[in-house]
Amino acid sequence: MSSLSALTIHELIDLLDRGVCSSEDVVTEVLSAIDARDERVGAYLDYDAEGALAAARSADDARSKGAERILPGIPIGIKDVLNVKGDTCRCGSRILEGYVSPYDATAVARLRQAGALFLGRLNMDEFAMGSTNENSAFQITHNPWNLEHVPGGSSGGSAAAVAAGEAVAALGTDTGGSIRQPASFCGCVGLKPTYGRVSRFGATAFASSLDQIGPITRCVRDAALLLGIMAGRDPLDSTTVEVPVPNYQEALADDLKGMKLGIPREYFVEGIDKEVEQSIRKAIRLCGDLGAEIVEISLPHTEYAVAVYYILATAEASANLARFDGVRYGARDEGHDPMDLYVKTRARYFGPEVKRRIILGTYVLSSGYYDAYYRRGQKVRTLIRRDFEQAFQECDAILAPVAPTTAYRLGEKIEDPLQMYLGDIFTIPASLAGMCGLSVPCGFSDAGLPIGLQIIGDAFREDRVLRVGYAYEQSTEWHKRIPPIRDDEGGR
Ligand code: GLN
Repeated sequence: MSSLSALTIHELIDLLDRGVCSSEDVVTEVLSAIDARDERVGAYLDYDAEGALAAARSADDARSKGAERILPGIPIGIKDVLNVKGDTCRCGSRILEGYVSPYDATAVARLRQAGALFLGRLNMDEFAMGSTNENSAFQITHNPWNLEHVPGGSSGGSAAAVAAGEAVAALGTDTGGSIRQPASFCGCVGLKPTYGRVSRFGATAFASSLDQIGPITRCVRDAALLLGIMAGRDPLDSTTVEVPVPNYQEALADDLKGMKLGIPREYFVEGIDKEVEQSIRKAIRLCGDLGAEIVEISLPHTEYAVAVYYILATAEASANLARFDGVRYGARDEGHDPMDLYVKTRARYFGPEVKRRIILGTYVLSSGYYDAYYRRGQKVRTLIRRDFEQAFQECDAILAPVAPTTAYRLGEKIEDPLQMYLGDIFTIPASLAGMCGLSVPCGFSDAGLPIGLQIIGDAFREDRVLRVGYAYEQSTEWHKRIPPIRDDEGGR
């Protein structure tokens, strides 16, 4: 029985239900995939093999006694920004070295309640600031499709682990694209829920008005399953909304009859790779063949989105990261007075990108500049949200690229932050508008790197986005391809 580690959650649940394998078998295989490949991929910051096996055995034990769980001993990898009780949570940063979570994030707690177990901590850009994982303070993560390329970011460890067969599924967070873009770069499915759909309690805050937790999986059905478990009102996060959680899996259908899909004019502009554009256009045609009506729409303020995001997100980050000062969490350098301690600790343990953003964010909030930058940014954010509200009067979901290119070469962009930021152009607008977005594999470049189709939905219409993604996925084979690093073990 080979490659349990390469199956989807649904396939595993079926095998577990039929008694073909145990959770211990699954975890054993995932651990051996980590053993065989993670030295090359670098997805995990750390993992607890013994703990995972023990949890798997107790899940098997519970099942043999008749316990019914939705995720019976399914191992899930967790981005290092999310709190899992008893695990380290360093957010890819030296400043949190030594910090151990005293509690579970709500999303984690809900998965645990459903029977999932947690393997380990997945690499990320420091405090989720970045698009390549090169901003991690600890290690480089490599793209399983080509080890010379980045996995994307900031949830790059999560996407790389799922692609490499080192986790059955993983959790990431998305502030401006950090689930969708790495999913796209690694050939996975990635879902950023609507702002307010999944509790942020226990997710270390980067930009609180944008952050959302979501799944990275091998298929759309798995994303629907995990979202259904995590979504819904949480008294511990007052921004979660009392909107009923539909059965997302029941929303999945094989065709797109009766759906209107919008193609935003502004997303097909200069700068987008020819190969990416061709794949997206082909995907759009296929959605038409599946019964959808395709309409052109306009999101006229798209060109301002990156600038607005890097004002608002840095402003929020500068406030959120003030709590890391050496007093309460993680690393500390002693000082002769409290100010000296803060300065020494922050100067020494924050990395360069985090410092850049704290400085930018402090600047745009400072008196004299607040009106020119922050307040103005908020106004343009409203215009961007209205673009989407208007668009969703005309269509049920929007089709677009996730990113203008495939995965960058390692080192290609890291010296040029502006170029790096511009790569977020297609994911940021939906984040600013608070909408939901899904990334689904839709092709490969000639060099063998994955391309992702983005499906953007109106607030709380994940059901529609998942339906479109599922119908598309069912009529294509892209999600079945496996990266070369998994070839030696026979694939799926
Ligand atoms: N790449 C974007 C940034 O660097 C998005 C990050 C994210 O979504 N966490 O801010």
